[in-house]
Amino acid sequence: MFEGVVQDLVDELGTLPGIGPKSAQRIAFHLLDRDEESVRRLADVLIEVKEKVRFCEICGGISETEICRICSDARRSNDIICVVEESKDVFAIERLREFRGRYHVLGGAIDPIGGVGPDDLRISELMQRIAKGETDEVILALDPNIEGEATSSYLARMLGAQDVKVTRLASGLPVGGDLDYADEMTLGRAFLGRRSI
Ligand SMILES: [Zn+2]
Repeated sequence: MFEGVVQDLVDELGTLPGIGPKSAQRIAFHLLDRDEESVRRLADVLIEVKEKVRFCEICGGISETEICRICSDARRSNDIICVVEESKDVFAIERLREFRGRYHVLGGAIDPIGGVGPDDLRISELMQRIAKGETDEVILALDPNIEGEATSSYLARMLGAQDVKVTRLASGLPVGGDLDYADEMTLGRAFLGRRSI
C-alpha cells in the first residue's frame, strides 16, 4: 500500500501482538511525525532490551543477570513454587504482594493446534526443581483458557507422582483471557483461595 521503508515499518509493526493493519499504519505515521531524537531513543531501547535481558537459568523468567532477583533473594524460598506461563505473569502475581515463594515460567502453554507440546515448555526443568525435595506446594497459576486448562491437567498428572501438594487458583478469573487481564483484587482472591487438586 505504501512504498519502500514506510511499508517495511508498517509490516514490522503489524507483526506485534494486538496491532492490526490500521494500528500499524497509525503508529508508523506517528513515528514519522516525531522528532529524530525521540525515535532514536525508542530504537535504542528496543536494541538494549534484547542485548541486556535474558532468561533466568532457574525459573526462566526475564532477568538482566544469570539468576534473577527473585531466585537469588535469600528471604524467599523454594517451599512454594508458583508455575506461570509467561514472565509477565510473574509481575502480575508480584503486584499482589502476597507470595513469598519462587516462580517457574513455562514459556507458554500446551496448544496442540498451535503446535506447542509439553516438550516445547520448561516442564522437565520444573520436574528437576521439584525432585530436589525442597518444595511442599506447587501452585498452578496458568491462564484461564483452554490451553491453560490443558497444561494444568498435564502438570497435575506429572506432579501426582511427586511428594508435593498441587494447588490451582480458585475460579473467578475472567475466562478465556490471560492471567494478567484480571484486576488485582480478583487475582488476589483467586490466589488466596487456591485449592488442592
Ligand atoms: Zn529466576
